[in-house]
Amino acid sequence: MGERRRALNRAGLRGGRWAPHKPDMTDEAHMRAAIALARTHLGKTGANPSVGCVIVAGGDVVGQGVTQVGGRPHAEEQALVQAGEAARGATAYVTLEPCGQRSAGTASCSERLVAAGIARVVIACTDASTYASGRGTERLRSAGLTVELGVLQTEAAGLYVGYEPPKA
Ligand SMILES: [Zn+2]
Repeated sequence: MGERRRALNRAGLRGGRWAPHKPDMTDEAHMRAAIALARTHLGKTGANPSVGCVIVAGGDVVGQGVTQVGGRPHAEEQALVQAGEAARGATAYVTLEPCGQRSAGTASCSERLVAAGIARVVIACTDASTYASGRGTERLRSAGLTVELGVLQTEAAGLYVGYEPPKA
């Protein structure tokens, strides 16, 4: 038993050394939940892509949203309303890059994420739309948020196969 535990410890140490190169399983689990949300409105959101958003604080899900039928409100808007003050310092998981600018001229999701005090944003796919295309992540990063791109990108990409990003 004692010998076995030592062996496990040694294995644990080896695992620890490689940990930075391994995908974070917690991030993947939350992103998988966001993808599942997005899937529920696939094909029902008009010209807008169906996006899923999950907000996690201290390991607990404090907010979640999916692009509503017809295309708005956006997933992040709803998840942030649900999270309220719990969004401060939390991590947001989004299946598609949050918009950096809204065609309607209202606050973009990136602005809303910043204003709510979100600390970290984990994104599966980038958005080639002229309303996002790097603007969303750029805004988040310049506001000091940690942004991670490409978590479960392959799985989420299936949601956006038929999505044609608008060109301004
Ligand atoms: Zn948005």
